[in-house]
Amino acid sequence: MSDDAQGFDGYVCHPQFGNEMVRGRFVMGWDGLRFESEQEPYILPLDQVVVELGNDENWIGLADRRQPGLTFFVARDILEESRFIGSLTIRRQLERTLGRRELFRRLRVTVVALLAFAGLAWIGSLGAGWAVQTIVKGISVEREIAFGDDSFKEVQEHLDFVSDTNAVLQLQAVAAPLLPSVPARGIPFKFYITPGEPNAFAMPGGRIFVTTGLLDLMDTPEQLVGVLAHESAHIAQRHIFQHIISGRGPIYLIRLLTGNRNSMLNLMAIPSELLVYESFSQRYEKEADAYGWDYLVAAGINPHGMIEALKKLRDYHAKSGDDTGPKRGAAFSSHPDLDKRIAWLEAKWAALPDKSHFMTLTNQVPKVEENHKLIDLLLK
Ligand SMILES: [Zn+2]
Repeated sequence: MSDDAQGFDGYVCHPQFGNEMVRGRFVMGWDGLRFESEQEPYILPLDQVVVELGNDENWIGLADRRQPGLTFFVARDILEESRFIGSLTIRRQLERTLGRRELFRRLRVTVVALLAFAGLAWIGSLGAGWAVQTIVKGISVEREIAFGDDSFKEVQEHLDFVSDTNAVLQLQAVAAPLLPSVPARGIPFKFYITPGEPNAFAMPGGRIFVTTGLLDLMDTPEQLVGVLAHESAHIAQRHIFQHIISGRGPIYLIRLLTGNRNSMLNLMAIPSELLVYESFSQRYEKEADAYGWDYLVAAGINPHGMIEALKKLRDYHAKSGDDTGPKRGAAFSSHPDLDKRIAWLEAKWAALPDKSHFMTLTNQVPKVEENHKLIDLLLK
């Protein structure tokens, strides 16, 4: 077993082990921590461990509840071992002594999940505070992508996709100059075109959707890439995870991320529309505008296109008499909010020191032919 080669240095001084100090290794086994030395292995069940942190930089004490007076010393590195600190008994002791913040730092996401379970009310009360941020930061890219894939399967049942591969390739080409400036931690972006009224949305794991209506509405690549920058910011900032925690509590996210992949969506029991970012609150919208703007500027793309895109969306909804307030899953359709966002971005534009050195975007906005839209609907 590879476990035998790992483990943690330890020692014990106790008559039970003779008169000398006995050195050995602590290895995690199925039945607890095993102290392996020249003598018989000693098994210390995790639920019997009393942790004595002390002040030593290198060693901590591990006492056995069943045998008062018997204390082992083990390399402090064991506090990085997820199965050790994942044990309820040990976690509770560490929480009391180390403090939760320190513990969070040490734990990997699955163990964070367990702890959050215990500290549910406490974390829930913090809303979008540092605890949420900490949990969200702890989610690995692999989990995020897996979660995105599962969410996408769910959403696929509710969406049609334009099969015009040329248009999708053109869309990718418009996005290409932006992507190197999006801090997406290696998440690959994928683009989709779906028939419908002007709108765009994003999903965790890097999927961005634009509607044929949006492509029809956008005149310049700067306008389109402005929308894509906003959507990519939702992904890069992991808004979906913050949203799930804030709205449903951490346990929800924990189930999503640690549960059986197949049962994940059942456990969620939330409508698939909630999985797309455009049903988000204005706080996330403003944040996505702000980050998206910064990505554009960093990429050398004129960010004014983002403002133009929002204006076009506002005018579109004004013209179509759609004055019923925000639609489900369509954050772009709310006029007062769009006005506020436009005004805020205009102020950012005014404050931008250098407005002359932006690149010329050569890839034009793809337009999906009417017959493609029809064919795709018929094929459904
Ligand atoms: Zn948004």
